[in-house]
Amino acid sequence: MAMRNSASRLSFLAGRAVGATLRPMHCAALHNTASDTQPKKESDYLLGTLPETMKAAVLWEPRKAMTIEELKLPRPQVGEVLIRTKACGVCHSDLHVMNNDIPFPIPCVLGHEVSGEVVEHGKHTDSATIERLPVGSRVVGAFIMPCGGCFFCVKGQEDLCESFLKYNRGLGGLYDGTTRLYMSSSGDPVYMYSMGGLAEYCVVPANGLAVIPESLPYSESAIIGCAVFTAYGAMKNAADMRAGETVAVIGTGGVGSSCIQVSRAFGGRIVIGVDISDGKLEMAKQMGATHTINASKEDVPERIRVDEELT
Ligand SMILES: [Zn+2]
Ligand SMILES: [Zn+2]
Repeated sequence: MAMRNSASRLSFLAGRAVGATLRPMHCAALHNTASDTQPKKESDYLLGTLPETMKAAVLWEPRKAMTIEELKLPRPQVGEVLIRTKACGVCHSDLHVMNNDIPFPIPCVLGHEVSGEVVEHGKHTDSATIERLPVGSRVVGAFIMPCGGCFFCVKGQEDLCESFLKYNRGLGGLYDGTTRLYMSSSGDPVYMYSMGGLAEYCVVPANGLAVIPESLPYSESAIIGCAVFTAYGAMKNAADMRAGETVAVIGTGGVGSSCIQVSRAFGGRIVIGVDISDGKLEMAKQMGATHTINASKEDVPERIRVDEELT
């Protein structure tokens, strides 16, 4: 059987954020419903009382340790949701900012693999959004938080959202061009990489949130909106993987181990994890790899040929 997906191609895919967005139902936010005309109770917007400040990890300077600071509690605006953070992953994209490999305004709060609980909707948010994300619901955020209304978002290509790239990646804020984060003492602005999830609370545009079921723990779910959907986009859109195929995944870290799980879910016949760490390869087997290869000890193309012939 010929291999569709060469090892090197998958390596390329796994290293890039291909299709790294959730596909939330942003259309709901664009259509008013009849209930929008009815007055809403405060409890529809707000879950209990909230503190005035919160703690967050702030990056002040590249290649220096972040410090825990007191910030004002961020305020969500229309179409935005305040989340009480339950878990936040640390992604290599965060490290790129920390190392100044990716220019970004500082001081800033990193963290874009976030899960948490909805505690507040911005005033004047439409009923459809509030009904989709009720206060108290368990949610996961997306690395790219689509605006839902730009040229690319309306075509279903939210991963290219112009507003996100301009206002968040360019200016460190949300779609009105300002941040939601301010120092408690001085009132100075602190910029947000995506939602700035390395904090007790974070503001996320509703289009960047999806509800998760009770069966999914917060900690394991946090990476769904980045590592897992990068893998999903790579396997579905870029590799166009089909059931019965052989897949080799080069590098079995966060994205790679997600590629392995997605490949098995797509019906991969042989799913080979390749890495130079035996520990990561052991984990790759637990994630569903049918075979593993340590590239520092074995000839990878030769082993893949042998595995295919033997299976
Ligand atoms: Zn990430
Ligand atoms: Zn957009």
